Amino acid sequence: MTPDTRRWIEADKAHGWHPFTPQDAWTAPGHEPLVIVRGEGAWLWDSEGRRYLDGNSSIWTNIHGHGHPAINAAIRRQLDQIAHSSYLGFANPRASELAARLAGLFPPGTLERVFFSDDGSTAMEVALKMAIQYRLQTGEPARTRFAAFHNAYHGDTMGAASLGGVSRFFDRFRRFGMPVDFVAGLDQLEALDPASLAAVVIEPLIQGVNEMRPWPAGMLRGLRDWCDRHGVHLVLDEVMTGFGRTGAMFACQREDVIPDFLCLAKGLTGGYLPLAATLTTAGVYDAFRGDPGNAFYYGHSYTANPLGCAAALASLDLFEQEDTLPRLQPEIRRMGELLAGLAGHPRVREVRQCGYIAGIELAEGLGEATCLAARRHGLLTRPIRDTLVLMPPLCTRGGELEQAVEAIRRSLPA
Ligand SMILES: *Cc1c(COP(=O)(O)O)cnc(C)c1O
Repeated sequence: MTPDTRRWIEADKAHGWHPFTPQDAWTAPGHEPLVIVRGEGAWLWDSEGRRYLDGNSSIWTNIHGHGHPAINAAIRRQLDQIAHSSYLGFANPRASELAARLAGLFPPGTLERVFFSDDGSTAMEVALKMAIQYRLQTGEPARTRFAAFHNAYHGDTMGAASLGGVSRFFDRFRRFGMPVDFVAGLDQLEALDPASLAAVVIEPLIQGVNEMRPWPAGMLRGLRDWCDRHGVHLVLDEVMTGFGRTGAMFACQREDVIPDFLCLAKGLTGGYLPLAATLTTAGVYDAFRGDPGNAFYYGHSYTANPLGCAAALASLDLFEQEDTLPRLQPEIRRMGELLAGLAGHPRVREVRQCGYIAGIELAEGLGEATCLAARRHGLLTRPIRDTLVLMPPLCTRGGELEQAVEAIRRSLPA
C-alpha cells in the first residue's frame, strides 16, 4: 500500500462516518477500503493504480461516463464566471436555461414549473410539501395523507423516509414521519379512502432499493388513471430511473404518463454534481399565486447552483450530440442476452432487467462476497442484500458490458 493510500484510510477510519455502514466493520484493522482517485468513461481507478468498471454508475448517478470532456469544460466555463450565487432573490443564467430545457422535455402545458433543490431526498421533500400546501390552499384540508408502496425507497430525509417501505431502514423513524398508507399494488388502493389522500408516490417502472424489482407492464398507466378518477396527485420519483436508465429519457414516457410532480436528481448533472429538480404543472403552481402568504416557503442555500446547472445542461446536450438513447438500445438488448446467459447458473436465483438497469439475485448469503470477489476481476458494484446491481453508465461500448458480466460469472462460487 502506498503511503498516501495508508494516510487517507487512516484519516477516514479516525474521522469519517459512512452512509448505511456499520462502522465497526468498516474501521476494523483488516478492512482496506478502496480509495477512488480518478475516473474516465465507465472506468474508475483506485489510489493503488487498479482499474475497475463502474458497475453501478457510482450509486446510480453517472450517465455519460466520468471525466467527459464536454461536461468538464461546461463546469470549468461556469467556474470562470462564478461558482455559486443565491437563487433566493436572484436569477442565474444556467438555472434559467435549465428550467426551460427541463420543461421542454415534456409536452407544452404539462410540467411547466421547475423547483430546484440538492438531491433526491430534497426533490421528494419539495413534492410532498407542495402536495400538502396545495390542498391547504385549494380548500381540501382533509386531503393531506400520502399513499406509497411496500418496499419503496424515496430518500433519507425525514419526510422522504416516511414514504419508504423498506423496514430495516425506516421502521425506527416511522412514528416521527408523515401520515402514509402503504399498499402492495394497484388493487390495494381501492381499500383506501381517496378523499384523505393528497398524492400517491411511486418509483415508476422499477423499484430500485427493493432489489431492482420491475412493476408489471401497464401498472403506471393504471395508477395514473386511478389518480385521475379520484382527484389524487401522482408523484413520480424518477431519481433513479430518469435520464435514460430505462431506455427512454424518463420512465413515465414508456407508459405515456405525465405526473403532477416529477422528482429528478442523481443523473440530472450526468452524475457530476449534487442538483435536483421537482417539476410540476401550472395547475399546482397556480395555487401558490395570489396572496403572498400562499408562497412556497422552502429553499436550500445551494438551490439552483450554477455549476450543477451547467453540468446538467451539458449532459442534456450530450443526449443529442452523442445519440445516447438510440445508441443505448442495442446495449440494452445485449444486456438481456448476457443476463439470460447468467440465469442458468446454479447460484443465480433470478435476473431482473428494466432498460439498462439489472438486478441479479443470487443464492442466499452470496451478495457481499460476490461483489468483493468481482473487484479482483475489475468490476465495482454493491449488492442490495443478495441482489447484485448492474447498471453501468450509458456510455459502455464494445465489450465493456461483457467484461462486467464475465467478472460476475467468475466471482460466483461453482
Ligand atoms: C437515490 C434515490 C433517492 C434519494 O436520492 P438522494 O440523492 O440519495 O437523496 C430517492 N429515490 C430514489 C428512487 C432513489 O434511487
